[in-house]
Amino acid sequence: MYTLLPLKVGECHTEEGPKMFFVRDFDKVYSTYFYFWYIEGGNTRILLDTGFDLADSKGFMPTMIQQPGWTPAERLMQIGVDPRSIEHIIVSHMHFDHLSNAVDLFPNARLYMQKREYETALYPPHPWFTAAYAPGMIERLTGDLRKRLEIIDGDMEILPDLKLMLVGGHTPGLQAVILPTKLSQRTCLTSDICFFYQHIEEDWPIGFFCNLAEVFQAMARFRREADVIVPQHDARVEK
Ligand SMILES: [Zn+2]
Repeated sequence: MYTLLPLKVGECHTEEGPKMFFVRDFDKVYSTYFYFWYIEGGNTRILLDTGFDLADSKGFMPTMIQQPGWTPAERLMQIGVDPRSIEHIIVSHMHFDHLSNAVDLFPNARLYMQKREYETALYPPHPWFTAAYAPGMIERLTGDLRKRLEIIDGDMEILPDLKLMLVGGHTPGLQAVILPTKLSQRTCLTSDICFFYQHIEEDWPIGFFCNLAEVFQAMARFRREADVIVPQHDARVEK
C-alpha cells in the first residue's frame, strides 16, 4: 500500500477547449491545475514527475499562475519531506510541467523514463515533439542526468506492486502508473492521457496528442487494469 499526495505547483485559466477535448468545445475556455505526485511506500520516497518553477513555464504558458508557496521545494517542505530523501522519480513524459529543472532538488533520485520517450527527445520526428520541453533538458539527458537515468522499455514493476505502463499517445513514450493506495488496490495515475475526470467518464480524448489511437487504447487499458483512475490536471484530485 502506498500513500499518495498531489502537490499543486500551478494553475492556468486560459486553456483552449479543443486542446482539452479533441475537436469540440471551440468556444470554451478551461482551467487546468498542475500537479506532481508524492508517493511513499514502506520507507521508500518516490515522485511521479518533478513539478516546475514558474520561470520554466513562462515560455510555453505565459498565463501560468504559481502563487508563493507553490514551488516544488516549498510543497515538499510543507509536507515535511526533505527533497534529498527522494530515491525514485518516475518521469511520466518529457513535457516541461513533468520533467523540469526542479530535478536538481533531488540529487539522490534515480529517474525512470521510457526508451521511446528518451529516443524521441534525442531524435524527434519533428520539432513539435520537443517544443514543450524545459529549457536545456535534452542536453541534460545525455549530460549530467545520464548517470541517474533508468531507461525502461515497456511495462515494468519497479517497486513492489508499483507498475509502470508504457502507453504513449500524448507523447510517444508516456508512461502511466498503477499502484495500491487507500483509494483502491489498483489505482491508476494517468498522467496526460486524461487531463480531467471527464475524459474517462465520457471516453473522449484530449486534444493534444501524437497518436490518437494510443490515447483511446490507453483509456481502455486503464479501465481494464484499474479500479480508480486519477487524471492529471483536474482540481478534484485534491478532494
Ligand atoms: Zn504533457
